[in-house]
Amino acid sequence: MEDSFLHKGLREKLVEEIRRKGIRNEQVLEAMRKVPRHLFMDSSFIKFAYKDQAFPIGSGQTISQPYTVAFQTELLDIQPLDKVLEVGTGSGYQAAVLMEMGARVYTIERQKDLYLKVQMQLPKMGYKPSFFYGDGYQGLPTYSPFDKILITAAAPEIPPALVEQLKVGGILVLPVGGPGSQVMTRVEKTGPGEYSTREHGYFVFVPMLKGRE
Ligand code: SAH
Repeated sequence: MEDSFLHKGLREKLVEEIRRKGIRNEQVLEAMRKVPRHLFMDSSFIKFAYKDQAFPIGSGQTISQPYTVAFQTELLDIQPLDKVLEVGTGSGYQAAVLMEMGARVYTIERQKDLYLKVQMQLPKMGYKPSFFYGDGYQGLPTYSPFDKILITAAAPEIPPALVEQLKVGGILVLPVGGPGSQVMTRVEKTGPGEYSTREHGYFVFVPMLKGRE
């Protein structure tokens, strides 16, 4: 499937909608203008690709709402060449947005079917993050430390292993809480074993699960 003028026009409108909702970082908006979101969704949902809504991607999971992707990405303060760990690859859309901003992305998914699918499809669109299959709760100790870490599923608490794998000065963004609703939390690592947190309102994510399926 291609990226037509129609798709580009719809994407432009979506970006303006997200801007109206409060996203100010021009690099984030520019990245979202570039990534063809319709290619990350099953063809039966394609007419919803440029609505500001989450949608099913199979295996009981969702592609996050564009505003939420923009909000988390803005909180991460992505700089070119940042080394970023994403927990919850899902459709790969968020990873693509990070890569459009010049980040080097490591992404981990615990559901094997999603991992296999995204690993096949994303490189065809020109996005080549490092893909991992496993439990993102544990992070990727071998590849740490990271400048930024992003969790795209609801975590019941701030995972200590992930704070450990951040550089000092690094940022972890995650929704904290149980099913239903979570508080978007930005964690800044201030020193070895030390961090500060700030809360940024309520969001709804699918739960993060410990261990492998
Ligand atoms: N970032 C995704 C949205 C994913 S939804 C996108 O842009 O499409 C959350 C994803 O987190 C799901 O695919 C789910 O399977 C995955 N997930 C849940 N618990 C996880 C864990 N412990 N480790 C890694 N991935 C996890």
